[in-house]
Parts: sequence; C-alpha cells; structure tokens
Amino acid sequence: MSGASGSSDHPELRAALIAALDERAPRVDRDRVAACFDFVDRAHGAQLRESGQPFVSHVVEVCQILIRLLETRTDTTLSLAALLHDVVEDTTTTLDEVEKRFGHEVARLVEGVTKLLGLHFDSHRAEQAENFRKMLLSMARDLRVIFIKLADRLHNMRTLEYLKPEKVKRIAAETLDIYAPLAHRLGMAGIKRELEDLSLKALEPAAYQEIAQRIAAKREEREAFLGTVRTRLGEALKAAGIKAEVMGRPKHFYSIYMKLKGGRDFESIYDLFGLRIITHTRNDCYRALGVAHDLFTPVAERFKDYIATPKSNLYQSLHTTVLATTGEMVEIQIRTREMHRIAETGVAAHYVYKQGGRVDEELDARLGGFVAQTADWQRTASDDEYMEFLRTALYQEEVFVYTPRRELKRLPKGATPLDFAFLIHTAVGQHTVGARVKGELVPLRHELRNGDMVEIITSPQAQPHDDWLQIVRTAGARSKIRQWLRQRRHDDSVALGREMLERELKRMRARPDEKAIEDAAQALGCTNLDQLYARLGEGQVSLTIVMRKLAPEKEGFAERLAKGPLEALGLGRKPAAGVRIQGLDNVMVSFARCCQPVPGDRVIGIVTVGRGVSVHRQDCPNTFANRVEADRKVEVDWDARIGETFPVRLVVYGHDRTSLLADIAKVIAATAVNIRSAGMASEDQTARGVFVVEVPHLARLQEVIKAVRGVKGVTRVERRQRLLRGGPPPPARASGNAG
Ligand code: MN
Repeated sequence: MSGASGSSDHPELRAALIAALDERAPRVDRDRVAACFDFVDRAHGAQLRESGQPFVSHVVEVCQILIRLLETRTDTTLSLAALLHDVVEDTTTTLDEVEKRFGHEVARLVEGVTKLLGLHFDSHRAEQAENFRKMLLSMARDLRVIFIKLADRLHNMRTLEYLKPEKVKRIAAETLDIYAPLAHRLGMAGIKRELEDLSLKALEPAAYQEIAQRIAAKREEREAFLGTVRTRLGEALKAAGIKAEVMGRPKHFYSIYMKLKGGRDFESIYDLFGLRIITHTRNDCYRALGVAHDLFTPVAERFKDYIATPKSNLYQSLHTTVLATTGEMVEIQIRTREMHRIAETGVAAHYVYKQGGRVDEELDARLGGFVAQTADWQRTASDDEYMEFLRTALYQEEVFVYTPRRELKRLPKGATPLDFAFLIHTAVGQHTVGARVKGELVPLRHELRNGDMVEIITSPQAQPHDDWLQIVRTAGARSKIRQWLRQRRHDDSVALGREMLERELKRMRARPDEKAIEDAAQALGCTNLDQLYARLGEGQVSLTIVMRKLAPEKEGFAERLAKGPLEALGLGRKPAAGVRIQGLDNVMVSFARCCQPVPGDRVIGIVTVGRGVSVHRQDCPNTFANRVEADRKVEVDWDARIGETFPVRLVVYGHDRTSLLADIAKVIAATAVNIRSAGMASEDQTARGVFVVEVPHLARLQEVIKAVRGVKGVTRVERRQRLLRGGPPPPARASGNAG
C-alpha cells in the first residue's frame, strides 16, 4: 500500500475526499482513508456507473454524504466501510480480504451493508416482512450499517435519471415506502426530505414539475415578502437583546404535494412561507417566541411546543404560525443550534459518535423502541401483524397523553382510549368498559389528543369484542385483542370437540380411558388432548377417524344401526381422499352418500358445518341452487389415486325370475368390479334389487350399468339419488345377499 502519496487512476476523486476530511472530519485517519481509496479504486477498476462515471465515484460520494452529515463526528471505521460498501458485492474482493486489510469492525459493517443489498421490499408481504426484520436487526447490531445504506440510497436517488424507467419506479417507490420513513424515524430530516423529493420527481414527474414551476413563479414576490418579515423579526430580536439568526427554510416539494393531494390549494399552504429562528439557548427560544407574537398576531391553534415535549426522534422546536401585516400566514420554527443539528441529522448520529454503532436501550427507547420490539415480535407476530407494527413504529406521528398519576404515555396519532388501556396493561385493556378524558366520559373510539389525561374504567366481567379491532390504532393492542379472540375460539372448539367425542363414545357404548384417548390423539399427530378436541371441533379431523383409532372393533356399528339392513352388509364411508379442493388444504372431505360421486362425475363441494367438505354430484338434488347457499359451494377436482374405489349403489328393476340376482352378480363380476353388497326383493312379479359396487371411475361404472342392462329380464338400472331434506328415503326391503 502506498498510503496517502499513492498514485490513482482518479486523483481528482482522491483529492476531493481528502479535502472533505480536512474541512469537516478532523478525527478521521487520512492515511487509512487514502489507502482504502486506492484499494477500492483498484478493485472496482474500470467499472462504470450507468451515468458513465467511474464506479469508484459512487463510493466516494457515499462517504462524502456521511462526512457532510456527521461532520466532526465522522469516524474512521465508518469512512472506510462507506468506501468499501460495494466492493464485496461488485468485485472479486472477499470479505476475508477486507477483514485482513481493514480489520474486523470494518468488515462487519461491509458485511451488514452487503446483506442489505439483496433485500427488496416490493415483494410478497411475507418476504417483505422478513426483509424488514433483517434490516432492522442488522441496524440493531450496528446503526452505522443503516447510515451507509441511507447514504448509498441517497446517491443512487440523485443519479436515478441514468437508469431504465421500470427500475427507476421500483427504486423510488421503495425509497418512499422504506428508506424515507426510516430516515424520519432516525431523525435525519435532511436526508428524509431529499429522499422524498427525489422519489416524487421520479414517480410523479408532472406533479413535481408543476410544483417547481409554481414555486419559481412566486419566488420574487415570496422573497420580497419574506424578506420584509425577516428583517422586522431580526430587528425586534436584536432590540430585545436576543442573539439569533433568522433564515428561510428549504422547500419540501413532497410535503407540498401531499397537502395538495389532501385537497388543500396551493395558495393556502403555510410552509410556502416558512422562517426559522436559531438561538443560542433554550431560554432564548421562548423569548424569541414572545418577540414574534408581539410583532405579529399568532394563530392560536397552530402553536406547538416540541421543546417541552420532544418528538420521539428527539426533535425539538417551537412551532408557531403568525399573521403578517399583509394578512398572509408565516410558519416560524424556533430552536437552538444544537436542536437544529439534531433535527437535521438525527439523534442517531449523536449516538454513532458517542458509542460507535451500538444501539443501547436508551437509544432504542428514543427511536420508539422498535429495535427491541423487532427482536421480540419476531417470535410472536404473524407477518401481517409485524407489518402493522412497523407501520405504526416507522410512519406515524405521536400524541402524548397522561395517566391519572401524571405519567406521560406516547401513542400514535389517532389512538383511542382502548389503545391507551392496552398500553397500560393487557389485563386493563381486556376489561375496559369505558374511559374518561379530562374527567369527561368518552366513547371508546374517541381520538386522543396531546395532553389528554386518560382514565380507564374497567369491570371484571368485561371482555374484548371483535369490533374492538376496528377501534384500536396500535398494533400492540390489536395483536393482544386478536390473541384473546383466538384463544376464546380455541377454547370453544375444544369444548365442542370434547362434547362431540363424549356423545359419540356414549352412543357407541365405548369407554376408553384417558390414556387411550391420549394415545389416539398422538397417533393422529396431535400433541395433546386439547389439540385433538380443537381439531374435532373445527372439523379438521372427523369423528369417524378418531373412533376408528379409539374403538376399531366398533367401526361402522353406529352407521349400521342407523341404516337399513342393506347398509348393514358393509356400506361405509370412503376415507377422505381422491379430490382436490380449490383453495382449501387440510380439510376433511367426505363423499355424499345421497349421490355417491365417482371420478369422472361432474362434482361440487359443499361446506358443511363441523364436517368439512362434502362432495356431491352436480346433478344431485341436494345441491340444486335453491337448496344450498352459493357461498357454501367450493370447486372440486378429481384427484383419484390408482387403486382407489368408490361405492355406488345401483337400483335394478326387472321381471322376477329365478337366479336373476345371481345372473346380475355374475355380469358385474365379469367387469372386474367388486360387489360390496347385493339384495333383491320382489312383489307382483316385479323385482327390485340394490347392488353396491366399488368402481374406480365413471367409465367403469357405465360399463357395469351396460352389462347389467343386458341381463335377461332387467328393465331399468339407476344410480340412486336421494333427497336428503325432502323427507326420509324409502325403506329398502332386503332379501338375501351375494358377493
Ligand atoms: Mn452502493
């Protein structure tokens, strides 16, 4: 390594980097940075950006963004990692090599950033949640990873114009969804503002241009007007003996765009006219406020004191809006230089300086506690709940309210007393019946405001309702309510399942002991008895299957008792296999006994309460539109495995003669179809026989029917269809059997 004096293909970039360090970051080791630059420059070699610039210009720019952001607080590790952030991903350099040359800490940062490169947030919800977790966990390990990532994203956004349009849209949308809110949460207002404006420019170029033009058109007028206000304020502050600087504020296109979108008209948007007063002391902030209010009429409801009650990202300022003499409104922010620095670069930057990238509890609490909660939520939350939590943690503004004991609680804007109750304690939330705000009784959906004193009224009998989910705004409360409701549903299912099984055992006169039931549960893949009952109650497993395990000797007994003698010969229910049900896995399936479908029949599934899906033939009278509500019908496809057979009952009419039954049985056997039962009865020379055959599919069944029709004396062969709710089926009269 040739160190600071080394030669480079890009000496101008190298010089600019060193100059930036000289100007703003005296703590950083110049020699190590210069050596690192030479290494990176060689590694990226002739690689170019889409803009045609040498690739190394990108990493230098990322490093410079961080230097400008952190200024004197920039450290060497961060600078080196910023220069190296693409070297593992985009060149043949390995992480090991980085570690050998630049040390463990730098390598760890580069590794963290490299891992984030592959994360996309426009993907499936589940993947998106997972990627979020990864990012926030890497951030929990070292905040500097996110600093580099944000600087990287900012430079990429500044050079978006060289990319393909579809890529531009994706990156800009992701920036607006993820990185701008993240910068906001870290309190990096400057970066957030620029990310938002660049995203708007990429996503809504027409709207962006229009806002730019309208601002430009107003510029002269605006500057003249603001100039007057500024001068008058400056003089008044000076006269009051307050050392302060009055300045204009950068325009934030995106916030103007959002206000226009929200229905406001351009002329009425206050922060078109915004001023900022920077003082030396906190006390001077309040004195400056007095001067401003003395000079111009304040708009009362727009005053906010974020000095006494800082935002969670530690933002502090006084906000006030005053009416200038011309009748126009001017929003003024008043803060100290230190508050200003925190507002622009964030509390996180302060901690990076103070303790490297380590996120401790104190910092996490200031950031809204979401790092710790991410680790926690990873274990308990579903993806949807996690995304909800993040939306709350990252995107929302807060309100501050008090407990009756004057403890300050922070909630997202729009939160209700119910959110507050669950924040105090889960048990308080679950038993809430009402709330008082500032002593007044309010409905549970009342929106809390800054400074409200909230008192929760509970009752031991109270319980969460489904509609509470519509009332709460916080993911925490929502998750606790869902958990409670899930638990109650589970309890209901367990109780129902237990009752079903007990009733069936009684009916079958079976008395297995607890141990036998537990064994059966285990054999069916349940971890305990409750799980078995729950599955029974939810219809995920059938009573028949449980009974088969519990009392195999009694199989079919109940059915045999309940049916006529023909069924007693052995007609049972097919196990649930042979069909695919659209959109439903793991659901109990039975084949309707009324119409006995076989593969090849056009079929439909009907959802039955507690018994899963029952498969019927489409022409079964029990499925006719007026008998079954549309939302209970599901589409079913045959998926018969080889060797699977389905019972079909055939009703045969004919002229009675000797050995008719035997002849019919013979031709059926000749089609290689098993006869499960057969019976025949005659009356006035007319014979009526019922045959239960087991066929693999419709074609074979048709073969059987054709063969039976060919038997001498047979006049009619029908598949039985029985109307379930149209009264009892005609009793079958049995006589004899054949097999
Ligand atoms: Mn990069």
